[in-house]
Amino acid sequence: MRQYTGKSKVERVVLATLVVLLALGSLVGCGGPVDGEAGATRENGAPAAGVGPEAASSGVALEAASTVDEAYIRESLDHLTGISPAPLDGGETTISERGSDEGRRAAAEYMEESFEEIGILARIIEFPVDDGTGYNVEATVEGTGDGKHLWVTAHLDSAYNAGASDDASGLVSILSTAKALEEIGPEHTVHFVAYDLEEIGLIGSSRYVRSTVGDIREREGEEAIIGNLNSDMIGYDEGGYDAVLGACNRAGPIDDAVRQALEDIDSPIQLDEDCLKRSDHQNFWDAGYPAAILTDGTRYDGYPYYHRSSDTVDKLNIPYLHAMIQLTAATTALLASPNET
Ligand SMILES: [Zn+2]
Repeated sequence: MRQYTGKSKVERVVLATLVVLLALGSLVGCGGPVDGEAGATRENGAPAAGVGPEAASSGVALEAASTVDEAYIRESLDHLTGISPAPLDGGETTISERGSDEGRRAAAEYMEESFEEIGILARIIEFPVDDGTGYNVEATVEGTGDGKHLWVTAHLDSAYNAGASDDASGLVSILSTAKALEEIGPEHTVHFVAYDLEEIGLIGSSRYVRSTVGDIREREGEEAIIGNLNSDMIGYDEGGYDAVLGACNRAGPIDDAVRQALEDIDSPIQLDEDCLKRSDHQNFWDAGYPAAILTDGTRYDGYPYYHRSSDTVDKLNIPYLHAMIQLTAATTALLASPNET
């Protein structure tokens, strides 16, 4: 396993400052100020006057989005959908589906090992189910303060198919977002979870929310829980870069953070809001915690290859998926480092 060498605090601060300065520069470059106050600041050539808490937030969102790498997205998608064998510690394994015990376990190992390769401690949480076993994977980036907890999730299993959109797209998103957060070093703790057995009744998330999230609530209180941003089917673009946030007025601070992130990174995503259920975030809602789902414009059922063997990587629009993951990484950074300076 490769050892990850994290950036030092000084490097992080320098990088964040550069990103803020670049952001200010690019705002001026693409049409000028939005309001009078900012305009005055820029006209007298003193961008430092505008660098308050908001500008700093902008910095952390941009920093997170800038780490999201298209080559990494493609490579991880290929491994998770059987296009190329996954280089597991136990030997190369082709994961052509993630419905069988064998396929789900291999996918769980791939996720665990991928998180560890990024430099994040990860574990597979096995749980018994009917005659078999479920495999949730959890990777945690510890916060630097005695902060709160945020969950960024997707589901591991598929409908016995390659499941490129459903939900390898989400798995690649949580890997890429974990990479971004590990580099930032967030104030709050972020748990990245790949849930098993979503397709047969949100089973993995039900177990996880009841046990792991429940334990944290018990130990640290309700206010320690920020909530859950879940990604399911985020790679198919019908044209127009449409996407949907399922917030249902139960997203707590996540709704605002997504909108802030869209703005901060000047995202091309056209976001609509709709009260979507039917994925793992529902278990957060049922337990009384804030949650939201990010999905593409098909709202699940409009995806022409939904739960078919033809849900393969060639159906995805990779630049669109890249933009969706950047939005997720930026949102996560804003929620996890609200006071980053
Ligand atoms: Zn799904």
